[in-house]
Amino acid sequence: MLKKTLSKNWNRMKIAVLPGDGIGKEIVAQAVKVLGALDLNLETETALVGGAAYEAHGHPLPDATLQLAKHADAILFGAVGDWKYDCLERSLRPEQAILGLRKHLGLFANLRPAICYEELVGASSLKPELIAGLDLLIIRELTGDIYFGQPRGRRTAVDGHFPGSEEAFDTMRYSRPEIERIAHVAFQAARKRSKRVTSVDKSNVLETFQFWRDVVTEVGQQYPDVMLDHMYVDNAAMQLVRAPKKFDVVVTGNMFGDILSDEAAMLTGSIGMLPSASLNASNKGLYEPSHGSAPDIAGKGIANPLATILSAAMMLRYSLNQIEAADRIEAAVKSVLSQGLRTADIHSDNTIRVGTSEMGEAVVKALKN
Ligand code: NAD
Repeated sequence: MLKKTLSKNWNRMKIAVLPGDGIGKEIVAQAVKVLGALDLNLETETALVGGAAYEAHGHPLPDATLQLAKHADAILFGAVGDWKYDCLERSLRPEQAILGLRKHLGLFANLRPAICYEELVGASSLKPELIAGLDLLIIRELTGDIYFGQPRGRRTAVDGHFPGSEEAFDTMRYSRPEIERIAHVAFQAARKRSKRVTSVDKSNVLETFQFWRDVVTEVGQQYPDVMLDHMYVDNAAMQLVRAPKKFDVVVTGNMFGDILSDEAAMLTGSIGMLPSASLNASNKGLYEPSHGSAPDIAGKGIANPLATILSAAMMLRYSLNQIEAADRIEAAVKSVLSQGLRTADIHSDNTIRVGTSEMGEAVVKALKN
């Protein structure tokens, strides 16, 4: 059962739905449809975020949207952004909504599984033997590092623009508690998998990441059953395409994680297949596909909704403790792939090309079967 507005019935699980911009609305609609097909006591309420919110309210994260997100049990997010907003001052750009939600909700851990489905082995740019059976989890720290360091800026700023700048700078920093808590997330996740963690850093050059390595090693001593190794980020980028199956859980900082998780995403063939979760200390989370708002295909009805549908499954698993329902969604996704249904991004010869909405319907049908 899926009710459309949040009520005072506290037994219901409350989901804030923030579709955002571009393909966000199209793909989130499919995930909501799938959630509605489960026999769960869920309520959803939708709000504007990103460029859509800026157009309507002059800010990418209006207070009403933030309050909705704060009071919900979980957030289902589409994507934000469009190149047409690149001329806005940074604090008003759509992407600031994501940063704001992470900050206000304390979402410090980003979990990005990269799973290569058997049916999509051919969609990867790597040789099938390198990626068949790939199942790795990248855990990216989300609220520290150079993206949030102070001070930052450029010399000679005028109205948010920097004509004639001679210098720009951002400061990389991590505190001990920030590293400890993300390391715990990684070791605990590894305990549920194959008990291996690779911590990725740049400790040979950066003091921040020597500190990172020291703290992760200390935390690792509390998990003697989990094997820890360390790798420099340049080597990790190389190993991810050379022998990706060597990795299981990868933990890293905000900027390296940003880059490596997109690289891992492409190993599996399409960014349209990859879900993500951003969690806080009490497992409240924001769930979104790993990709952006894809303005190039927005409104065409061809976007792949599976990453968002799989994000909804992660939401049921990590924040709402509905493991069986999460398993059912993941099985339904596998089933539609084995039926040969494909959106344009993963389509190949001998498969059946479908649009965004048809793919959503197919997952609902597979759930019911
Ligand atoms: P993008 O992920 O939106 O698109 C990259 C490429 O992948 C495009 O060719 C696009 O068509 C394709 N693609 C993405 N998702 C797809 C899907 N579900 N199905 C089929 N194809 C898909 O990245 P970009 O083009 O670099 O950025 C576009 C906008 O999205 C920018 O404004 C950027 O800032 C924003 N963005 C937002 C988020 C977010 O909301 N979390 C993340 C990344 C980028």
